[in-house]
Amino acid sequence: MLEKKKFYIDGKWVDPHRDNDFEVINPSNEECFAKISLGSKEDVDKAVQTAKKAFASWKDVPKDEKINLLEKLLTIYKKKFNLMSEAISTEMGAPIDWAKDVQTASGQTHIEDFILRLKNFSFDKQFDKKSNNHICYEPVGVCALITPWNWPINQIALKVIPALATGCTLILKPSEISPLSGMVFAEMIDEAKFPKGVFNLINGDGAGVGTQLSSHPDVDMISFTGSTRAGRLISKNAADTIKKVCLELGGKGGNIVFADAYPNAVRDGIRNVMSNSGQSCDAPTRMLVEKSIYKKAVDEAVDEANKIKVDLASKKGDHIGPVVSKIQYDKIIKLIKSGIKEGATLAAGGPELPPGLNKGYFIKPTIFTDVTNEMTIAKEEIFGPVLSIIPFDTEDEAIKIVNDTSYGLGNYLQTEDKEKAKRVAKKLRSGCVYINGNSADAGTPFGGYKQSGNGREGGVWGLEEFLEVKTVTGWN
Ligand code: NAD
Repeated sequence: MLEKKKFYIDGKWVDPHRDNDFEVINPSNEECFAKISLGSKEDVDKAVQTAKKAFASWKDVPKDEKINLLEKLLTIYKKKFNLMSEAISTEMGAPIDWAKDVQTASGQTHIEDFILRLKNFSFDKQFDKKSNNHICYEPVGVCALITPWNWPINQIALKVIPALATGCTLILKPSEISPLSGMVFAEMIDEAKFPKGVFNLINGDGAGVGTQLSSHPDVDMISFTGSTRAGRLISKNAADTIKKVCLELGGKGGNIVFADAYPNAVRDGIRNVMSNSGQSCDAPTRMLVEKSIYKKAVDEAVDEANKIKVDLASKKGDHIGPVVSKIQYDKIIKLIKSGIKEGATLAAGGPELPPGLNKGYFIKPTIFTDVTNEMTIAKEEIFGPVLSIIPFDTEDEAIKIVNDTSYGLGNYLQTEDKEKAKRVAKKLRSGCVYINGNSADAGTPFGGYKQSGNGREGGVWGLEEFLEVKTVTGWN
């Protein structure tokens, strides 16, 4: 049993103000493998005051010094890469190879990219050639960073690195469901010797530490990634102190497969939605298929889903692991049952455990066909390996169905017709549109429209989230 009960405050690991143990469960076997502490108001106050004090000097540390520290952190991250992967795999159930090659690798990519962006970022800009006005970019201040369990280090890196790079100080609260990757990250920060108080970590749940941070008068900004439900509560709690609130929330991505899609488009769509056991905010969970290829597409989709193996996170190889927790498992099974009840056709998978597994939160890759956009499974974010296939007749109808959701994070489209691809991409109301399986480059902005959020992470946009903009007249 791992004992990880301390918090990282003011450059050292400290005991919590009072005992409040929390068990971290391995979703592959449902057993507790680590104990952490849930923090209290006193812990939050201590961390916030520390970050406030550290801000006074960290904001003025020259860019080159910040870059040196971030480069040191990158070296340590690479050295401890396997330790990070094992923490992620055990705490949230990502198969170990996926945890390494995709989850941990994403953290490294973000650190590398932010270093590059910071090197090229100018914190002072002349407004325009004829003007004597000047624009200054200055750090927002003390930031509370609240992260989810599904891409734990990806989200931590997307927030912590730009916060530090821009001169903010911070309190990180990782998800209590997957807290260990955040603690490994804090150990790296410690080893890199960032100044005391610049980075602080407190574990806790949403109702406790999460709420205390979002309502704290000395926290200037909240950067939150998680559910739309929690995003609403955070916005309300932050309102009294008019904090800057950046939200990266849920999604219900559409994937339009036109009749002229490239040959493997349906199979790639299946692999994409099932990866990470369906626990990605921008997963393409509604596949819209043009009616002329509908039958063939359904056959391919079912065949591909049935080929995906489900197994323990600790096993090497290409498979999907369990979903993260009993709560998520129960929610997903309930939604699968609602799909059956509301009349969708269950074409693959279903609510029973996959063969050979009688322990752990495992769910079979599940496909519903003949889904309408009004069904619960097409409306709600399921956050499991479950896909809804919806037929369509025309381009306009497909766009209408994809946009008919309260979310707007990632949408996808598949067609060999380049003009159609651009035309449709522009009409989809989401922060990202992925054409023909192309992925987003490091440093591009990521974020949502509508109830998928209001912020952008990554690259220059990610740096700017943590900056105030000041106009100064009479500069020259
Ligand atoms: P969650 O909202 O339950 O929890 C996320 C974090 O917020 C955790 O650290 C949790 O402790 C904290 N929290 C919960 N309630 C809170 C409250 N009232 N005040 C303050 N903090 C609170 O989400 P989750 O289940 O951990 O993550 C899954 C969700 O995250 C999905 O909806 C997914 O789409 C979303 N997500 C979005 C993105 C994105 O970039 N848009 C990326 C990853 C995940």
